[in-house]
Amino acid sequence: MKERFVYGPVPSRRLGRSLGVDLVPFKVCSYNCIYCQLGKTKHKTIERKPYIPTERILNEVHQKLTEGIRPDRITLAGSGEPTLNSEIGSLIHEIKKLTKTPVAVLTNASLFGSSLVRESLMEADEVLPSLDAYDQNGFETVNRPHPEITFKAMVEGLIAFGKEYPGEIWLEVFILDGINATESDALHLKHWIEKVSPHKVHINTAVRPSAEAYARQVAPEDLVRFCKILGEKAEVIAPFRGSEKHETQAVVEKDLLNLLARRPCTLEDIAAGLNVDRDEILKYIERLVKKHVIETVKRGSIIYYQPKKPL
Ligand code: SF4
Repeated sequence: MKERFVYGPVPSRRLGRSLGVDLVPFKVCSYNCIYCQLGKTKHKTIERKPYIPTERILNEVHQKLTEGIRPDRITLAGSGEPTLNSEIGSLIHEIKKLTKTPVAVLTNASLFGSSLVRESLMEADEVLPSLDAYDQNGFETVNRPHPEITFKAMVEGLIAFGKEYPGEIWLEVFILDGINATESDALHLKHWIEKVSPHKVHINTAVRPSAEAYARQVAPEDLVRFCKILGEKAEVIAPFRGSEKHETQAVVEKDLLNLLARRPCTLEDIAAGLNVDRDEILKYIERLVKKHVIETVKRGSIIYYQPKKPL
């Protein structure tokens, strides 16, 4: 099956119905976060290059939009770090020529020490960078960055970006039980967050399976406590079971089929893509397999799901 780089739209609490765009192959990233829902980083790098040609991505975005799909956002994110793609700036520029749909970028901010990287994001409507640590030690514990990335360079780049960027910055802070979730951690993080001065601060935790089993979720009440310390701009976005997002079975089923129509996905891909608990999504999958709407395919030891007939 031909590889696809554009998927969805999938529902996202922060971004509405989001048309996702992969800019790098699976798990090409400058970090190897202990909480990553995509598993361990296969290729940890800081090399910037056109991993996926702009033309191919643009053609797919164009095709989607001509199918009549009306997403709330086009989100450059996917399964690795999008700023590693050296063409990200021109890609944003070209997408904005195609459509008025806002373009958002999900990034780990690791390369923000480079003015070239910061410059390449200036035309995006929203940038959603991560900040999970407040010093080198925490940075190495949680994000396990490429050895050439220091906390200092990253955070100074993020602060510079906060001053230069004309759009909205929604900072994501991922906290983990016993690692970076104490009151003292919150106060230390607040120091840096105030320097970045984002429009919003989104607090998340490991509700879904992580790269490391010891990366455990923080209890909802502790998340709220942490959030309060960070101030008014902070809100909890962790998709706990029973959250507002997927109220009806029909919505989840439709989104699931929509996702599988674009590319075969593993259970983890689907759970991450739809932002729904893995066990919950399994129930939908089992029902659709039973109804012969979707089927399993095995590649090596990995099981993928795909539609039985084109949808
Ligand atoms: S969570 Fe994001 S930044 Fe961290 S390893 Fe996974 S893809 Fe990379």
